[in-house]
Amino acid sequence: MLLVEDDAQLIGMLSTLLTEEGYAVDTAGDGQRALHLALTRQYDVLVVDRGLPAIEGLDLVGRLRSRAVTTPVLILSALANTADRVAGLDAGAEDYLGKPFDVDELLARLRALRRRHLAAADSLPVGDGWLDLQTRLVHRAEEPPVRLSERECALLTVLARNPNRMFSRRVLLALAFPEAESEAVVDTYVHYLRRKLGRRVVATVHGRGYQLGRP
Ligand code: CA
Repeated sequence: MLLVEDDAQLIGMLSTLLTEEGYAVDTAGDGQRALHLALTRQYDVLVVDRGLPAIEGLDLVGRLRSRAVTTPVLILSALANTADRVAGLDAGAEDYLGKPFDVDELLARLRALRRRHLAAADSLPVGDGWLDLQTRLVHRAEEPPVRLSERECALLTVLARNPNRMFSRRVLLALAFPEAESEAVVDTYVHYLRRKLGRRVVATVHGRGYQLGRP
């Protein structure tokens, strides 16, 4: 995710919290830097303050939308009366949370945005084939489609959305199986994916975690 906020103390607190929750967090302290990052990297969600140096928050969201960046945006702002919220949603944000905010509510809203974002995508490349997220079928050249279970699909989706990025088992647990307790679940579903799609579909990064594609 990309966190756009000019309050250094709040950025520090939120990045620590969100990293502990399993998010990979980039930060930007002004609107110009945020615009550059959001146009050049893929994010699942953006959290954007309104009062920002260089380009203010709503202007930033408008510019991203006009350049066809559809990444969901949550505005996090002290400007939080009804007119402020309406302005935020009209500028193209999906959600709006007033400051001061409750951390649990922020996390729940981010999970909801991420779920909707993932559900809106139709397919993801996997090796030389693709995963259809609606049907949970993996299609590959000259092979019959393979249907994944809900949990297999959840794990492969996280890996396939970030090919060639290494994920620790802890982060995969948080992103793919937030309701599960043990990192052993990750190993189990990597095993199932390899049984269905071949050993090479998910690579082990020794002593660190897993990734899609070659380490
Ligand atoms: Ca600010």
